[in-house]
Amino acid sequence: MNFYNTVDLHTHSVLSKHAYSSVTENIDEAIKKGLMVLGISEHQYDEVGVGAHYFGISNISVIPRAVNNLKILRGVELNILPDGLIDTERLPLNKLDYAIASMHRYVYPANNNVALNTQAYIKVMDYPFVRIIGHMDRDGYPCDYNRVVACAKEKGKIIELNNSSLIHDNDRIKMRDFLILKLCREYNVPVIINSDAHIRYDVGNYRQAFEIVEAAEFPLDLLLNYNHRALREYFPILG
Ligand SMILES: [Zn+2]
Ligand SMILES: [Zn+2]
Repeated sequence: MNFYNTVDLHTHSVLSKHAYSSVTENIDEAIKKGLMVLGISEHQYDEVGVGAHYFGISNISVIPRAVNNLKILRGVELNILPDGLIDTERLPLNKLDYAIASMHRYVYPANNNVALNTQAYIKVMDYPFVRIIGHMDRDGYPCDYNRVVACAKEKGKIIELNNSSLIHDNDRIKMRDFLILKLCREYNVPVIINSDAHIRYDVGNYRQAFEIVEAAEFPLDLLLNYNHRALREYFPILG
């Protein structure tokens, strides 16, 4: 199985301040690995200091739409707040193709409150620019996965299978991923495998995620990395 040669919509660069490669290094790496589409998704700036400065995101239009055969999407990874809202102040939404919405410890403390987390995921899906729900499998944010995946179906969102979640071989995360994939299959919700790379070598790396996909016998049709027709429906800019 070829783990590359597809689509990676979740990558970070030094702009996010806790990653180690530049945007152009990530682009070069994606070309080297034969990816078709690379998404640039820096973290939204937060008061802890993680994330790209406003100008780093608002100037994203200088990044070309394509380099060689690689198509490039302009995205961002936004922080879900505990009330399910997103801070949209100084967010240049008109320059962005998509947003990933995720829960992060520095703005949303880890907890065991299933009702709170479920409500936050459901509410954040009302934002039209949120196209992908990021790393829902992580420790500290349990939710009613059944309700969240059903809501993703209703609101037309994509669920991410995040390879970085799996790099440290955490059985709890794997079990959650199996459950989330099972629900996505039941509800017919598209899934995208993303690397969440913080260094160029991880761009397009889905090795651990693909083991889960294969073990779960998840249909490739529902994987946007492979179903490019469905991918284009979500991102018409890809042409
Ligand atoms: Zn994240
Ligand atoms: Zn990320």
